[in-house]
Amino acid sequence: MNRYTVSRAALRSATHVIGLTVLFSNCGFAQEADSYTDQRDRMVRTQLQTRVFGRSPVMDKAVLDAMRTVPRHRFVPDDMAKNAYADSPLPIGYGQTISQPYIVATMTEALQLEADDVVLEIGTGSGYQAAVLGEIVAEVYTIEIVEPLGKRAARVLEDLDYENVHARIGDGYKGWPAQAPFDAIIVTAAPDHIPQPLIDQLKAGGRMVIPVGPEGRIQELRLITKDSDGKIMERMLESVRFVPLTRDEQTTHEQRPQK
Ligand code: SAH
Repeated sequence: MNRYTVSRAALRSATHVIGLTVLFSNCGFAQEADSYTDQRDRMVRTQLQTRVFGRSPVMDKAVLDAMRTVPRHRFVPDDMAKNAYADSPLPIGYGQTISQPYIVATMTEALQLEADDVVLEIGTGSGYQAAVLGEIVAEVYTIEIVEPLGKRAARVLEDLDYENVHARIGDGYKGWPAQAPFDAIIVTAAPDHIPQPLIDQLKAGGRMVIPVGPEGRIQELRLITKDSDGKIMERMLESVRFVPLTRDEQTTHEQRPQK
């Protein structure tokens, strides 16, 4: 099936769903039509499989399945749950945001994941991206620099039984040397250059997706690949806007001496 066929089919079903929703809300069945499962199915069809705003549809089945499965509403603050499946980023507190579903899916797809991969994420935030990865690969290691956010995400991930997702507090610039090397690395906050420790912690044959650029401006989402000889290649994927990667100049949380 080519992209055009998928896109047309998805568009037809998107129109169908919108029509149904209107019908149902008029009949008082809105609640049933709007269950979170329905909202997720609709999100996948209308935001990921349809070519909206000139975006390339997401094709990877494992990514689409994960996006259909992970309860995004559980990762956002309670008062945001009703907007959890909208085509936009949302605030999660501490000046941080959960990325728009399309960005989560595109970045995940760009990593070209295999079921037995071990993945590192920098910027746990809400924990949503980590859960999406956790649906697809064997192990996920994720680091968050803002302690209360990292703790909240770890709690939600535990409540949802993501036993293969391991979260810690720290400065992700340095990666997670004890678990390296990684098949894939995803960075969800933007540094102004690619951290060398992350390149070092990528396996031969590994892939890294990272937004790079100045704070508050449009950044470049880049795909970095390391070939079997350790040679690094870079490709620009698209323009994005992420919160900045901040630095903890002291030692990371776990490394502080115990009193
Ligand atoms: N992946 C997240 C979105 C994260 S927003 C999600 O699915 O919700 C980016 C996150 O990166 C923020 O929570 C921010 O605090 C965190 N961050 C910024 N600099 C960091 C660093 N040096 N190390 C680890 N996390 C960092």
